[in-house]
Amino acid sequence: MAASTTTRVISPKLLKHISSFIRPLVTSSSSTSSSSSSISAIPSLNLATKPEPTITTPPSILDLSDHQKLFATLPSRKLLHASLILHMAAMNPVVDLGMWVMNSKLMGVDNIVRDLILSAVRHSFYEHFCAGEDTVEVANCVKKLNESGLRGMLDFSVEFTVDNDACDRNFQGFLDTIETAKSLSPSSVSAVVVKITAICPLNLLERVADLLRWQEKDPSFNLPWKQNTFPIFSESTPLYHTLKKPEPLTPEEEQHLLLGQQKLLKLCQACAEANVPLVIDAEHTKVQPAIDYFTYSSAIKYNKDDNPIVYGTIQAYLKDAKERLLLATKAADKMGLPMGFKLVRGAYMSSERKLASSLGYQSPIHNSIQQTHDCYNDCASFLLEAIADRSHGLILATHNVESGTLAAKKAEELGIGNGNQRLEFAQLYGMAEALSFGLRNAGFQVSKYLPFGPVEMVIPYLLRRAEENRGLLSASGLDRELTRKELSRRLKAAMF
Ligand SMILES: Cc1cc2nc3c(=O)[nH]c(=O)nc-3n(C[C@H](O)[C@H](O)[C@H](O)COP(=O)(O)OP(=O)(O)OC[C@H]3O[C@@H](n4cnc5c(N)ncnc54)[C@H](O)[C@@H]3O)c2cc1C
Repeated sequence: MAASTTTRVISPKLLKHISSFIRPLVTSSSSTSSSSSSISAIPSLNLATKPEPTITTPPSILDLSDHQKLFATLPSRKLLHASLILHMAAMNPVVDLGMWVMNSKLMGVDNIVRDLILSAVRHSFYEHFCAGEDTVEVANCVKKLNESGLRGMLDFSVEFTVDNDACDRNFQGFLDTIETAKSLSPSSVSAVVVKITAICPLNLLERVADLLRWQEKDPSFNLPWKQNTFPIFSESTPLYHTLKKPEPLTPEEEQHLLLGQQKLLKLCQACAEANVPLVIDAEHTKVQPAIDYFTYSSAIKYNKDDNPIVYGTIQAYLKDAKERLLLATKAADKMGLPMGFKLVRGAYMSSERKLASSLGYQSPIHNSIQQTHDCYNDCASFLLEAIADRSHGLILATHNVESGTLAAKKAEELGIGNGNQRLEFAQLYGMAEALSFGLRNAGFQVSKYLPFGPVEMVIPYLLRRAEENRGLLSASGLDRELTRKELSRRLKAAMF
């Protein structure tokens, strides 16, 4: 039934576009792979005779090879756009040029060239990776996603700020986002996302992180403003960011810190009223202790009974990730509180490595990518067990097919798979569609992380996505191959 529906949605005009588009794409691609699945080289498109290459994924309850089933709910126009963008993003010269333009002086001043560039970005990368300009557009995006069985995590996509006025504006943006979440069907929204560096000035958070680190080195160091929190550091957490004893916070700094915390508590309150979790993003290690402090102190106030409202984020690429996760979970258990965790690999690898080496210290990131993979899968396994017998919440945020597969199998073994409200898989909007749909087809709750905001505002986010998807071997390899195959299948079905 899905096959005939998808075939019928291709109009003759679109058909013409597809046929002229697929060929150049196919000939420009040579091979693709992922850390998790071995995908054979992309063949040239010969609809008549060549058998399609087989995709081998680890044995699992996920079927990521049946592109027809995976993309059954996606209209051809959307699939074609996705395929075009992912193939463009895989071409290094295109990404280099795009990054050069976006970082150039051209973008700094209002002029017609800038308008043209922004318009081109809007209709290409922005449309693919972002959910809209404002809350109305993101709400529409959630509704569409929900029709295909996925949910949305609303991410008002502001970056860090250094002044209190911008914090106030951002705070209002987050409140509006929660209002939007409240107006949507509860089953279509899994969470609202917040960045602490957008509601409390970065320089102040860095000071707080320094002070927390110094107290970790010297427990007699008094922090009069410090509230109840779970452990933020483990024995192996590197403390090199704070080499000398920091000055205490001034009364003005304490006041601003209080303002930042109050903002977060108001967001927690709004989320509790809307009954939607608030997920706090992780950032770089220089400031992360302050973010964890905000996270845990608000979780202690708002995570009650079996309803974790506040979710923190653990970055598995950090050597101390598992230890810190165990300590925080143990503390939550001891207090009888449910805690929510989003598990990611981590997105600040090169800046972390650069900072550590500039100070003459070892990188806080695992020495090999395999160690990061192992740490991610280990933490995921630990958290799955934790949600199986306690009330914690877990968001497994990953595009990695092997991690998704292993977690799905473990969840099934533990009997916490289908329909479990406290387990969510998540991928960024516009990325890892095959994995999202595969997990959905296996019966899990799956969300797309939906950044939204005006084009100019989300440029830093788009640059990160461009970097992540660049090169033929990037994480989008599986999606590139499967969308291309599904498009050619639909084309064939429409022609014959
Ligand atoms: C829903 C969602 C929310 C997210 N939220 C956050 C967040 O709050 N904070 C944050 O920092 N990131 C966040 N991310 C991004 C995430 O951290 C990753 O950058 C991204 O998802 C890629 O990791 P992956 O699990 O998808 O795995 P893969 O696709 O397998 O990616 C692996 C990548 O890990 C990197 N890597 C990690 N460790 C090493 C190492 N030791 N050596 C070499 N390379 C290494 C490499 O760049 C490699 O490309 C989020 C991602 C998603 C999907």
